[in-house]
Amino acid sequence: MLSLAEVLLRHWPEYERQFGAQILPSHRRAVRAILTCRTRALGGEVYRCADCRRDYFVYHSCNHRACPQCGNADAIQWITRQKLKLLPVPYYLITFTVPEGLRAWLRSHQKAGYGALLQQSAGTLQDLASRDKYLGADLGCLSVLHTWGRQLQYHPHVHCVVPAGGLRADGLRWCRPKSPDFFLPQIVLAARFRNRLRTALQGQADASQIPVLVWRQKWVADVQPVGSGETALKYLSAYVYRTALGAQRILDDADGLITFKYKDSQDQRWHTLSVSAQEFLRRFLQHVLPKGFQRVRYYGWLSPAATTRWQRILALLDWHPSSLPPTPPPPPSLCPH
Ligand SMILES: [Zn+2]
Ligand SMILES: [Zn+2]
Repeated sequence: MLSLAEVLLRHWPEYERQFGAQILPSHRRAVRAILTCRTRALGGEVYRCADCRRDYFVYHSCNHRACPQCGNADAIQWITRQKLKLLPVPYYLITFTVPEGLRAWLRSHQKAGYGALLQQSAGTLQDLASRDKYLGADLGCLSVLHTWGRQLQYHPHVHCVVPAGGLRADGLRWCRPKSPDFFLPQIVLAARFRNRLRTALQGQADASQIPVLVWRQKWVADVQPVGSGETALKYLSAYVYRTALGAQRILDDADGLITFKYKDSQDQRWHTLSVSAQEFLRRFLQHVLPKGFQRVRYYGWLSPAATTRWQRILALLDWHPSSLPPTPPPPPSLCPH
């Protein structure tokens, strides 16, 4: 097993020699962060273990979201925060993907393109939910952008975490889905998302470079029930805070080839793939987001600005989220005792 930092230490100088000025500043920043994470370069501090009362010296971490060691660090905090917003209803994970033909444009217009993916997928959900046929109410939704496929290839998509139910526009009633086994139709979601995105991208730079076929083909949306309560949250946090390359996925670095493992979506088994070091770094770096880009967003009555509507929902459901038992803090992972 190898860390990404070890791979970078060996192969980044050559990558930099080869691509020099073409390397984006955001990519350089990510590499610098990962290379210095938990090393002397970032300094450290003395940490006292609460159990054994001994002192240990701990190096600071880089906290860069592309870092496999740090990218998931917020997951536990996220679960705790979400518990305060957890409603006693079933949850759904709804995923929007885009066709191959749109990816080249997205890659070269990341800020505008990714922003549109997040906004238009949330808008699509609201559009359908507001129809009486489906829910006749406003939704709350948490969205997260992923840019990777399982083999680290470029595959932008948006996961939306959606409580199954909504607040009627007049704020007087909480509306449940018509049937417990059905929330929103995948085919209609996909078509609506395609049309919304087409309109949203029309005014964007170089939009004419997007192949016309993209807007004529069938798009894909996936609706998965994920149950309710804390089990659903744990499952969802694995999605929300997943990074392109998790720790412990690089298996080998030999003869210029990097071997890493990935879970196949068809058979759900681990497989391995070997690619040249240069290709591996290229695949990894393409998932570093533009600086400051917000990849997790809240919409509808889950948005931080919707306090009144949120309070209204709690009253309608007669629900007191603060009564949930607190999660015990995780044991410190750094103490060697
Ligand atoms: Zn780090
Ligand atoms: Zn994903």
